Amino acid sequence: MQIQKIKAIAKAKGIKAGNLKKPELIHAIQLVEGNFDCYGTAILGVCEQTNCVWREDCLECSINKVH
Ligand code: SF4
Repeated sequence: MQIQKIKAIAKAKGIKAGNLKKPELIHAIQLVEGNFDCYGTAILGVCEQTNCVWREDCLECSINKVH
């Protein structure tokens, strides 16, 4: 997801993006939504939450952390 869209989502939820990087911003959104701040933690690209809106970016981020 494009960072501008993520910033727009954050703003709509009352989060000030400031200098937050993409993972930090998504974590803030997840917490405001009452979810775990699990973005980027799908070890080996595995997560059973198939409806997660962050899934595509998360799996890519998680896999890149491993390598
Ligand atoms: S794909 Fe899984 S680990 Fe990643 S943000 Fe979504 S729920 Fe969290």
